[in-house]
Amino acid sequence: MQADVAIVGAGIVGAACARALARAGMSVVIVDRGAPAAATSASGEGNLLVSDKAPGPELDLALLASAHWPRLAAELADELGDSFPAVEYERKGGVVVATTEAGAGPLRDFARGQAEVGVETEDLSVAEALELEPHLNPEITAAVHYPQDAQVQPVIAAEALLASARRSGARILPHREVVGALRDAAGRITGIRTAAEEIHAGAVVVAAGPWSGAVAESLGAELPVHPRRGMVLVTARMHQKVFHKVYDGDYFGATQSADAALQTSSVVESTPGGTVLIGSSRQQIGFDDRLDVAVLAAVARKALRLFPFLETTPVIRAYGGFRPYIPDHLPVIGEDHRHPGLWYATGHEGAGIGLAGVTGELIGALLTGAEPAIDPGPFSPSRPSLAAHLTPTPEGAA
Ligand SMILES: Cc1cc2nc3c(=O)[nH]c(=O)nc-3n(C[C@H](O)[C@H](O)[C@H](O)COP(=O)(O)OP(=O)(O)OC[C@H]3O[C@@H](n4cnc5c(N)ncnc54)[C@H](O)[C@@H]3O)c2cc1C
Repeated sequence: MQADVAIVGAGIVGAACARALARAGMSVVIVDRGAPAAATSASGEGNLLVSDKAPGPELDLALLASAHWPRLAAELADELGDSFPAVEYERKGGVVVATTEAGAGPLRDFARGQAEVGVETEDLSVAEALELEPHLNPEITAAVHYPQDAQVQPVIAAEALLASARRSGARILPHREVVGALRDAAGRITGIRTAAEEIHAGAVVVAAGPWSGAVAESLGAELPVHPRRGMVLVTARMHQKVFHKVYDGDYFGATQSADAALQTSSVVESTPGGTVLIGSSRQQIGFDDRLDVAVLAAVARKALRLFPFLETTPVIRAYGGFRPYIPDHLPVIGEDHRHPGLWYATGHEGAGIGLAGVTGELIGALLTGAEPAIDPGPFSPSRPSLAAHLTPTPEGAA
């Protein structure tokens, strides 16, 4: 089999890359060892947040994504028609709160820094916060409103991107594990091998979520992407009582931490179906996929500090997944400087749903030679902050 681009992974990121490339006229094959859109992209929440990102390249990408999602959602709806479910894009806004006196100042300072680089923020009094969220605990100490925060249904979004890519000619090959690379005499990657076939391609894009490190290794490359476990509680359906994405400021610390030990923070949001999602935890415990009651209890306890009414709300299920964690907390989007022909679109950790669309656009621009909408340098595999986590290559080696 032959294609311009072979993508490893049919999660939301691989799907967005496939769509951008196929729409630019390239022939694309996506290979997944399981079913499409069934791994991490089906195990998280659908927050599209600018509020949790400090000024820097990830926030720049998130601001681009915030402008891109409404267009993308509208394009998908137009293209796929009424018979395809809506991606449930909703710019409902976020309310970030502090629950302690000590947390109030840092929350406001963080928001001030974000406002300086273009994030819409609104400092709220407790009374104003309670107007936006009447069921919020009145004992909060500070609150900031972020109108740009939004949400999407991640599985439908991934499936819609795949359907759109397919309409532009992309081929999706499920249930085929990629086990190795094809290389030419000069060492350039020229395709991939599965147990069943060889797929020759001008470029290979690894979009294998938390397995990207393992896939890179199977292709003879090194990429420090590791799984970071997260668990979420889902309540019974109710009349809407939570109107925004509401979370406590501890979340910033948890997202930016490199600590492998358990961290929990409280992110509460309602879904169009009437359930409330309560996230989440962060833990580096490999690919251990057991649910841990102690972790879920810690997540629930923090949610009660935000919304005391949840105490009597039934929980109907819990689930978890593995975020694709990378030590310098920035996605890797670009060609591997050590292995020409090998590209990455991964390492988005807890922001891969939100950043998938713009990641696809960036990969599309870089592979077709179009002008990228954002400077790709900070996301390059050759960036200095990643170098410390890569084994140095002897001079002259591939
Ligand atoms: C609890 C939790 C909450 C989250 N909440 C949010 C949120 O609110 N907002 C947000 O933006 N993000 C969130 N995330 C993160 C988000 O889910 C991920 O960043 C995103 O789904 C990653 O998508 P992906 O396409 O890179 O990976 P995946 O969806 O995992 O897709 C990778 C694919 O690669 C395939 N694969 C792996 N190995 C091979 C191989 N050898 N050969 C072939 N195929 C292979 C897998 O089968 C899989 O289908 C959350 C994650 C978790 C766990």
